Amino acid sequence: MNVTFLDVPGMVRWVTARGVENIVRDLTTAIDADFARWQDFDKTPRVASHSPEGVLELMPTSDGVTYGFKYVNGHPKNPERGFQTVTAFGMLADVGNGYPLFLTEMTILTALRTAATSAMAARHLARPDSTSMAMIGCGAQAEFQALAFRAVLGINSLRIWDTDPAAMDKLERNAVRAGFDVHRASDAREACRGADIVTTCTADKANAIVLPHDAVEPGMHLNCIGGDCPGKTELDPRTVAASRVFVEYTPQTRIEGEIQRQAPDFPVTELWEVVQGRRTGRESAADVTLFDSVGFAVEDFSALRFVYDAVRADPDVATVDLVAEPADPKDLFAYATAAAVVGV
Ligand code: NAD
Repeated sequence: MNVTFLDVPGMVRWVTARGVENIVRDLTTAIDADFARWQDFDKTPRVASHSPEGVLELMPTSDGVTYGFKYVNGHPKNPERGFQTVTAFGMLADVGNGYPLFLTEMTILTALRTAATSAMAARHLARPDSTSMAMIGCGAQAEFQALAFRAVLGINSLRIWDTDPAAMDKLERNAVRAGFDVHRASDAREACRGADIVTTCTADKANAIVLPHDAVEPGMHLNCIGGDCPGKTELDPRTVAASRVFVEYTPQTRIEGEIQRQAPDFPVTELWEVVQGRRTGRESAADVTLFDSVGFAVEDFSALRFVYDAVRADPDVATVDLVAEPADPKDLFAYATAAAVVGV
């Protein structure tokens, strides 16, 4: 049986034709809509296999009609060896008969969905008059984050910092070409000065402090992406303790997020509660809000559905024969050995 198959060239064609900003804007709406029906989803912390170099993870969920999962890795030292820190692929399946529907690359799609989720959170949590964003970490995710914040919140001014000057050169080049006003900072503290939003998007398998506690100003929204594994965080615990903290799925974030360094009952709000109007997001212009992002399966499900709906009817999109379909469903053996029986 043929399954819709979007390989890397296919994803690149789709992204190029539709445009990153258009995709993240619409994907933000799709993720918001799925958070608005949060109760429909099976939820479990992702299944992680850790090694000294990184982590391999499976992220499943289902809404009772469609099932989805993503395979993703996180290896902070990979760029030194010419590999990416994060790569992924994933699929959707029909809950009714269990057959796969869609198989796709998700390295690019993860960058799009992470940016869309960040923008979705910031739309609920950042001050509405925000105009500038500090970006600490200028790696693979950075441009996607910047474009999502422009598409959804109108942020056009970036203050960038990375310990690797080549990564800053790359982000500055791409962001200026995309029409952003870019300030190259001399350190993280200077990057944050006067910024309305701070995105931390660094990779280091350590309890790092990439955002100095005294650089956090009243009213900031902190969008923290890179602390997403046990022993891999980006913030001073004092910054977390002094913020109003919003998470995706608490049982997973307590293991993986910035709050892993807080008490097990540290108070958090899940984003879906804000989306559904059950709890408040920002309460005053002086609040420091923190989105402690780790990446959750429902976001990948939203992204998979979004792309599948966009490409499934396109005759140029490939299919792959992934499910053996014997004429007699009980005679898989004859189907599997047909070539041997006729002697070919
Ligand atoms: P990357 O390796 O391409 O980029 C990371 C950048 O951080 C590098 O340029 C590196 O030089 C920089 N950096 C490291 N330490 C720093 C420091 N102390 N100060 C400033 N810069 C520093 O990685 P990426 O693909 O951009 O991913 C970034 C992080 O986001 C990773 O930790 C990844 O695991 C995480 N991630 C999270 C989600 C999520 O949903 N929360 C999704 C995707 C990726």
